[in-house]
This record gives sequence, C-alpha cells and structure tokens, in this order.
Amino acid sequence: MFTPSNGVLGFRGVAKAMALRSPIFFAGAFLALAIAYLTYFNITLRTDPVAAENRFELLLAADAPRRAAPHGERALAMRVRNGEDTEDVAAFKTRVAIAQIKRNNYDRGVDLLEQALLSTWARNLDIRERVRLQDQRARAEILAGDLESAVAVYASFIELAGDAASRGGEDDADSLNAYYAEQVAGARALFTEALNHTSTYKPVSRDPTTKLATANHMAALGSFYAMRDEGAYAAAGMLSTAYQIRKSVLGGDHKDTVRLALILGPIYVEMGRLDDAEELYLDAFHAQEPVKRSNSPDLSLYLKLLAGVYEKQGRMTEAQALYEHMRRIFQDAFGGQRYAVNRERDRRSDVNRPVSQYFLLDSGYAPTDLVSAAAYSIPTGKAPSIDEMKLRLAADNGNDPREANLPARLAQLVSLCRSESGDSISLRSGYRSYETQRILHQRNGRRGTVTPPGMSEHQTGLGADINVNNRFMRPTDRSYQCFEENAFRFGFILSYPPGNDYLPGEDSHEPWHWRYVGVQTAHLYREAGPYHKPQEFLAALPCYQERAASGYFPAAGEPDICLTQTPLLAVAASAGDTPQPIGEKDNSARILNDAAGNGRSRQ
Ligand SMILES: [Zn+2]
Repeated sequence: MFTPSNGVLGFRGVAKAMALRSPIFFAGAFLALAIAYLTYFNITLRTDPVAAENRFELLLAADAPRRAAPHGERALAMRVRNGEDTEDVAAFKTRVAIAQIKRNNYDRGVDLLEQALLSTWARNLDIRERVRLQDQRARAEILAGDLESAVAVYASFIELAGDAASRGGEDDADSLNAYYAEQVAGARALFTEALNHTSTYKPVSRDPTTKLATANHMAALGSFYAMRDEGAYAAAGMLSTAYQIRKSVLGGDHKDTVRLALILGPIYVEMGRLDDAEELYLDAFHAQEPVKRSNSPDLSLYLKLLAGVYEKQGRMTEAQALYEHMRRIFQDAFGGQRYAVNRERDRRSDVNRPVSQYFLLDSGYAPTDLVSAAAYSIPTGKAPSIDEMKLRLAADNGNDPREANLPARLAQLVSLCRSESGDSISLRSGYRSYETQRILHQRNGRRGTVTPPGMSEHQTGLGADINVNNRFMRPTDRSYQCFEENAFRFGFILSYPPGNDYLPGEDSHEPWHWRYVGVQTAHLYREAGPYHKPQEFLAALPCYQERAASGYFPAAGEPDICLTQTPLLAVAASAGDTPQPIGEKDNSARILNDAAGNGRSRQ
C-alpha cells in the first residue's frame, strides 16, 4: 500500500543510489536544459507561424484569450511577412478577432473582422456564415461604444428579414429571413446595456445626413424590440434617441418626428414615464395642427392618448376637458344624432361582431356578400381571383351604393395613405374560410404561427392584412401613422393592438391587421371607446351606443361602466351565438389556447 511516508522513503532510496553525483550538478543540468528548451520554444514561436498558430489555438481553446491573442497576432504578422496575401489570411483574421474581442480589445476585433469581411473569401462564404461574422462585428461595435455602426448593421438585417422581422406568420422558422431576425433579437441585451446609462445616446457623427440615417436605424430597431417580450427597455433607448435626433435635425413638427410618438408614447406609459409621454403627445398634436386644424377628428387620436396620460397622472380636470373637446369635435363634424340612427343597421349587417378566442365563430359561419378586392381598385398582393383576395361588401344598405361599402372605403383609405406616405400599399390577406384556417393551422399550428379556426377575423371577410412595400405593415411606416389617424373615418380599426390577449399565445400585436366595423362604429370607438381595446368595445357596443345616443358622458377617472357590466356583453352578440364575457374563457378556447402553445405571430 502506498503511503506518503514510504513514498518519501522510495525517493530517498533513488537519491541514495545516485549519490555519486552532487545534487548541485543535477540542479544545474536541469536548469540549463530548461533554458535551452524555453529559448528554442520561444524562437520557434517567433519564427514558425505554424507553431505560433498552434499555440494560439491551444490557448484560445483553453479559454485564455489574453494569452492567446499575442500569439495570434504574431502568427498573422509572420504569415503576411512570408508573402501570404489578404485572401490567404482572411479566415485566420476572424479567429484572432475572436480572441481580441474576448480579451475586451473590441477596436482591434472590429478592425480584423472588417478586413476579413472585405475579402473575396468572405464573399464566397455560405450566407449564414457571413451574416454570423457581420453579427460578431456589430456586437463588438456595440461593446466598443460605436452604436451608430452597429445599428446600421442590424437595421439592414431587419430589412433583409422582411416579414420575419414583423413576427410575420408565413415564414418558416428555418428560413434565412428568420435567421436575420434572430440575429437582431440576439443583440437586444447588448443594446439594453449600452443604452442603459444615459437616457438618450448622443451620436458621434455631426453630419445631418448620417445622423438622420442613424435615427432611421434606431427607429426600425426600437419598433422591432417593442414588439417583442422584454424589449421595452431597448426599444425606449432606441426610439427616444431616434426621436431626439429627428427633433434636432428635422424639427419637432416634422412628420417623421411625430410618427415616433405613436410607438414611443405607449412604451413611456408602460414604463411610468408619464411626463415624457405627455410631451410627446403634445408635440405630435401641435405638429399636426397647421396641416389638419385643431378641430380635425383625425387629431382626436392624440387628444385621446394625452387624456389617458392625464388620467394616469390624476389630472382629472384636464383629462375631462380633453374628452369634452373631443366630443365637440365629433359633434361638429358628424352631427348631434350621429350614433342613434345607425344602431339597428350595423347590427343587421353584422359588421361589428367580436371575434377572438373568447368569441368563437362556428365552422358553418361564412359571409354571403364576398367580392373581389381588385374590382374596387384595391391593390392586391396575390392573384386577384383567389378567395384570400376577397372581402365582404358589407354595404350600408342592401342595394350597394358605390361608396358606402367596405371595399370602396378601403380603396379610399389606401389611396389617401399611399399619397400621404409614398409607400406602396396592398392587400395581403382578406377572407379565409373556416376550412382554410383549419388547414393552415393544422400545417403550422405546432409552431403556433397561425390562429386556430373560429378565432380569426379573416373568416368574417372583414379583416384585411396590409402589406407595405411587399412586407407586413410596420409601426415605423409612414403609412401606418396615416392609418392610425384616418382609418376610423373609413370604418376601420386596428384589431390587435400591443398587449392584447385576443388570440392564444403571448402577445398578438399585429400592426398590419385592420378590420372593418362600419363607419359609425369606428367613429364611436375613436370618440368614446376604450383606447386599444377593440374587442372589449365591440362586445359592449350596445352600452356605448346607448350612452352616446342618450348624451351621457362619463367623468374622467370613473370606471368605464360599459366595460365592467358583464350582462351587457351578452346583448352584444349577434343572433345565434352565445358569447363569453371577456376574461372568462370557455373550455374550447382554453383547449385551443393550450394546444397552440407559445404562438408568436399569426395570420
Ligand atoms: Zn390578419
């Protein structure tokens, strides 16, 4: 058995056997050999690029980037000295860059990746490999404090991601589009940290054109993060920086500056930054005044947003004044009896029924007045003859006057916003039957990207997914602002605002999905309905109509009786349907909800 003591004895035994030599001799010889070896080793590392490169890889693999990097740099220098050209060393440069970034030498890492990316070698790489290198470089840029370069890279990724950046439904999770979106999502934490210390980032560049480009990139990124879970902080940093840049370069009243208020404002409110939200909405309102006149119903959106902020701040008198001002605007524009006469007609034509996971449509529900959108001059994103390019006529009265129906009004809205924004706008998806939705869901449901049948507004033929420049409409689009301000005048509302729970899954914010409810109902929703709660509003519609027709006006800060009186929700249902009160899911909805899992987006 081995014990420490006999081990020591054993060593002594050996020492005794070699006692002819002096111990000093052994020590000296060992030292000489060690020096010789180390000298040789060092000389080899200094003269042989292969040895240096091996040493570099070994240390990098051992997670010792601080020690690895100098060997990498030396190997690189030797290879260049030995006559290798840029192409030969491009791949190795990306390896050395990793070590430099890991040892916090970000500038050098960025520099090396930059050089490598400029090579033919990089251009011939598999696209995903190249994107990965671009991502690495951009991440190093964030760490180096060069946010302007980094946001440019990720903004270009958002463009390349197309629909996948809008959480778009049809894209396959393994697609290149989704890969681009994934890289952008992956940079969120770094951006959050980089924008953490100051409320707004100050761009280094002084040139107005470059500054504006940075603002555009940051707006795109901010909007991207705003649509995702836990993205509020990164979104606020990006969007407030973009807002400040545009304000200083273009002015506070420029349309592009104002546009950000609609995305940034709700984030501020969510974060409790109410003073900032107030300033944004006030700026947005005053900026539009000269163009639209202060008593324009279009601007009521900003009044409503501002009143909501005042309510949250406890400034009830100011909130009340705004609500009353809004009411006068609507009264002047649309008349005193504006809601009384239309109640019966809207109910009969069934354009205002709620549809969600709480209000299911049965498999037999199908509209009988579908028409081709193209016949009404609505630009279509798919073959005009297919069912998906159809919408309900939903005429105000049966004999279809050309202007008083869904497709004619959508055509007007599209035409208005196309000329206001310069964007190309088209219908991406209109009617989808229960069966079509069932098949789509069966095919994609496991990934949770398609709404289960019976919950989709597309089955009613009243919902329209809108494409801008051949991808889903985004909140940063000029045309989106136009829709937000004007859609209600044509009978359309945004069906899935931020934070809604109308569909199974986490957040089903869909800035591209607009739904027809009829002109009067859309007006009422804007004038007196709860902000960004369209389904709750539709479910309690008779209550809101009753209130409007009787001239009753609730005080600011009072609980909304229409939202809290559950018995009224039953009245809201169209004939033959038993709706579930909002917030109390029935069993079938719950089953579908569980089955759909964590759906991120849908069609
Ligand atoms: Zn849709």
